[in-house]
Amino acid sequence: MSMNIIEDKSFSMHVASGSDANPVWKKLWKLHIQTKIKIFLWWACVDILLTNSKLSQRHIPVNDICVHCSSHGETLNHVHFHCPFVRQVWQEELEVVAVLLWYIWFRRNQKQHEDYTGTPPSLVAEASSYLQTCKAANLDLTGTQPNQLERWRPPTER
Ligand SMILES: [Zn+2]
Repeated sequence: MSMNIIEDKSFSMHVASGSDANPVWKKLWKLHIQTKIKIFLWWACVDILLTNSKLSQRHIPVNDICVHCSSHGETLNHVHFHCPFVRQVWQEELEVVAVLLWYIWFRRNQKQHEDYTGTPPSLVAEASSYLQTCKAANLDLTGTQPNQLERWRPPTER
């Protein structure tokens, strides 16, 4: 299949309304993301993405090494979850989710006592901005600055 098929609306509709469409796919199809990403997810779930391992299994002369870490056996699970490079990506994403959860709770408490009128998209933007600000200022998310982690010493006597 060529990448042009991603822009083919009739193909998209076929995927969306397929006989085996389940509630997860119906929700996925309603996300405000590009169609090519939805189709990518569908291809990944039905395991038809052409990783180097899959090409090698089909006797296509390729090296089955991972482009990021050079280990052999570039499977879909390796590419998305097990590769050391990708594990760092997921660590970053986990931080985003953690901050988002905290921000949802923070705004919930604020709305309970004050008049918070943010929307879901604005809350996501605020949380993302907060995380970027913390990282830019080199603060960890516990609110403790690195220089505050130095060992405490008693005041010197005069
Ligand atoms: Zn790898």
